[in-house]
Amino acid sequence: MSAAAVLVAAGAGERLAAGAPKGFVVLGGEVLLVHAARALRDAGCFDVLVVVVPEGREADAAVLLRDAEVPAEVCAGGRTRQESVAKGLARCDQDVIAVHDAARALVSVELVRATVQALTPDWDAAAPAERLVDTVKRVDPEDGRVVETVNRAVLRAVQTPQVFRRELLLRLHGEAHGSDATDDLLLVEQAGGRVRLVEGERRNLKITTGEDLLFAEALLREDARP
Ligand code: C5P
Repeated sequence: MSAAAVLVAAGAGERLAAGAPKGFVVLGGEVLLVHAARALRDAGCFDVLVVVVPEGREADAAVLLRDAEVPAEVCAGGRTRQESVAKGLARCDQDVIAVHDAARALVSVELVRATVQALTPDWDAAAPAERLVDTVKRVDPEDGRVVETVNRAVLRAVQTPQVFRRELLLRLHGEAHGSDATDDLLLVEQAGGRVRLVEGERRNLKITTGEDLLFAEALLREDARP
């Protein structure tokens, strides 16, 4: 079966406040989107890699990817994550599509492979997820009052890559026109599809804040240790 990866890196990344779109933030001498693109390349599962970047940054991304020897198509994203995914999706016609956030720059090759392999015929989508370490409260959004403590055993924090059959993902994107799903699994769940989770990784964190970047730098230093 043929497969493609869509790497979304078209977010503004304001929370990182690094003066660059998040995918272009430097981590250990290389931008986040290159770290993520290399992991997707090295996984060896994909015939095509499409990297989605903010409009006007396509040429910059193409140069960075070429210098890193990562073969990829580059295209402009949209106003929402969902729009950016749809634009990347329009560039691939492979049977299986993995959507990955460039913000999860340190995803391992093993996790990419395990997630792709988890999409067996009985399932409609697959993704990595982690158990929660914190106790989680549900609150009243009006006044912040605690309403209940949620049973942690039934909760998972979901990561990317999220893997789908192209046909289904295309149809759901078409039907979800105008909404802004924060991930693509949501569309599958809403359509009654079966989503399979595999064990996620701490190092596959979504780099969102300056502290996350420091943690990611420490992980890279550990990786480089002989
Ligand atoms: O904003 P958030 O952290 O949820 O973004 C998750 C991923 O989606 C990031 O890798 C970001 O670059 C991407 N994104 C995008 N286009 C947007 C918004 C977010 O490609 N319009």
